[in-house]
Amino acid sequence: MTNERVYLSTTIPYVNARAHLGHALELVQADVLARHHRLAGDQVRSQTGTDDNSLKNVLAAEAEGVAVAALVDRNASAFAALRDPLSLSFDDFIRTGSDPRHRPGVERLWYACAASGDLYRKRYEGLYCVGCEQFYRPAELPDGLCPEHGTRPERVAEENWFFRLSRYAGQLHDLISSGRLRIEPAARRNEVLGFIAGGLEDFSASRSTARARGWGIPVPGDPDQVIYVWWDALGNYITAPGYGTGGEDYERWWNGADRRIHLVGKGVLRFHAVYWPAILLSAGEPLPTDILVHDYLTIGGSKISKSGAVAGNETADPVELVSRYGTDAVRWWLLREVPRVGDADFTAARLTARANDDLANGLGNLVSRVVTLVHRYRQGKAPRPGERPATAAGGRALAAACDRAPERIAAALAAFDFRAATAAVWDIVDEANRYVERAEPWLLARAERDGDASAGRLLDESLALLVGACRELAITLAPFLPCLAGRIRTALDGSAGQLPAAEPVFPRLETSSAGAVV
Ligand SMILES: [Zn+2]
Repeated sequence: MTNERVYLSTTIPYVNARAHLGHALELVQADVLARHHRLAGDQVRSQTGTDDNSLKNVLAAEAEGVAVAALVDRNASAFAALRDPLSLSFDDFIRTGSDPRHRPGVERLWYACAASGDLYRKRYEGLYCVGCEQFYRPAELPDGLCPEHGTRPERVAEENWFFRLSRYAGQLHDLISSGRLRIEPAARRNEVLGFIAGGLEDFSASRSTARARGWGIPVPGDPDQVIYVWWDALGNYITAPGYGTGGEDYERWWNGADRRIHLVGKGVLRFHAVYWPAILLSAGEPLPTDILVHDYLTIGGSKISKSGAVAGNETADPVELVSRYGTDAVRWWLLREVPRVGDADFTAARLTARANDDLANGLGNLVSRVVTLVHRYRQGKAPRPGERPATAAGGRALAAACDRAPERIAAALAAFDFRAATAAVWDIVDEANRYVERAEPWLLARAERDGDASAGRLLDESLALLVGACRELAITLAPFLPCLAGRIRTALDGSAGQLPAAEPVFPRLETSSAGAVV
């Protein structure tokens, strides 16, 4: 039990289109961390939401010929509705366009930075990518194209408010290199340190109201300008707990939290690891403690487009994937197959193969087998563990896998390594399957029937060890696959005097020869 107070956030996607699997990745990762910390006895507040004020939403609405508010409402609701299909457990969902907590907080942040002398007006001309909502230096644009979007940025000249980022380079460097602001993985930390070492230029913190089509939060005292959407969006991390509206939550969940953890994709690292901490330093507010960075997904070898569409027959729609394959299979692919560093390629065939190998064959068979053995040889009554645990026939390795799992999972999740964390769970499955083969309970049962009392005791011990391992699996798996963990708990529930009859906890997903589910 660590008993820390932990604040966890995902980024808030702009809602110019529906959610795709890349959004699901970040939401599921955040959900695992939230569930893990709750299980460890920590107090947790986990938060997600949508960035309603992006100019991209305006452009998408214009392209569709609908009102911006209508488009934003529709898509933001679709993001919020990912909660059930993906089994998410977030505590708060903030929509920057309509949540009454947001605007007062963004304005307070603006006033605080202005009071520190960090906001000033300047005429500026530069190359702007609307997709990224940021200015680029020509040197940052290979062949003159945006590195994220492959599109040609537009030349923009206007007078804006600027934020004095240059003033914070030294402090940011010290905070990040000392680990007080921790960035994982290390390659991303080095990327940020390299960016800071290259020199920080002040950034434009507002846009002309005309160019923003009147969409966004006006600059306090300057209605011709709206606050830069990144400033506005980053503010959500503190406006949701009430930075601008008062109350105890801000003290409790931001100022008073032991850890303030942001999950972000690699494409928005600079905003979270440089701009955002600098704004907080200027405003005199605590910084995040951890920034955990994931890479991207491709679908069937192609990048997911801005509209969420993908080439070929694959779908990137997480709701559709869940309706075809189930929550457990989708979460498991995201957690088990996506590496800590490097992009991962999704196909439905990979998802099915992974679910069938691991969840149906490895885990599902184990649980059914153990329950069946208990019914066949002990009338469904799970034997209690003896004074000496079954250490023969590989029992020690299984007991050790169970004992070590919680610590290994905690260490892996602290390092933002979901593959290593799920590997610790999987060691229990592998050791338990190996143990069944080595202990050969059916031979022990035959010897017992033939009058060998010591074989009967060994059978009790080995069944107790196996049932204990399956119950441990239900606990350790819960943050990753809460639904499947619940079914394993039910399968091993002996509170009625005996275990329920064996039923598959994860039925195989059917595939046709082409690899598609039929
Ligand atoms: Zn771009």
